[in-house]
Amino acid sequence: MTSSNRTRVSSVTLEPGTCGSGTVKKGQSLRVTDVDGGQVADFVSFRQNDPSEHFDCLYTNLANGRWKWEEGATLFTNHLKRMWVIKDDKTGVHFTGGGFCSNDVRRFLDRSDTVKGCRDGLEATLSENGIAPHFLQATSCFNIFMNIVYKEDGTWPAMPPVTKPGDFIELRAEMDIFWALSVCVWTPVLAGAPSPLRIETFS
Ligand SMILES: [Zn+2]
Repeated sequence: MTSSNRTRVSSVTLEPGTCGSGTVKKGQSLRVTDVDGGQVADFVSFRQNDPSEHFDCLYTNLANGRWKWEEGATLFTNHLKRMWVIKDDKTGVHFTGGGFCSNDVRRFLDRSDTVKGCRDGLEATLSENGIAPHFLQATSCFNIFMNIVYKEDGTWPAMPPVTKPGDFIELRAEMDIFWALSVCVWTPVLAGAPSPLRIETFS
């Protein structure tokens, strides 16, 4: 598909509980759209062909001097290299503290063990792409659309995502990147039933 000034390179819609992965070249953009609203993604990215360098929430917070990232903000790797720039963001509400939902987290908090955790799914996705699961670091997860609130009284509740159907965030790659994304099914961080996410890349 061509728009006025760019071409859509790929588009995939991922169902809840599944993962996707792909590559983007420097200068291309990746858009994550919340198709029905109220959904969250666990999103990780690595320097292509070097999984030891990954997107890093903590260093991005340090480099920007803030935990709430705005349009135009640069997202950094664990080596403080420019990885993404936020090109368009319809809500501005994401969790930037890192961490994944996982089978371990669910057993700890819910004592349930019935749905697959995002970390577990992403580890399998990395393995399928020849990347050892231990490269998945807690600080490497950008929890897109997740709404965790830092309250004055020190508590840290998960609130429902604010995304409406069709809301998206778009990131421009500042290097060649391998990315992987899990469509979360852990209902305490969702607005309702799990729903799909669409991932598009544009040149
Ligand atoms: Zn999850």
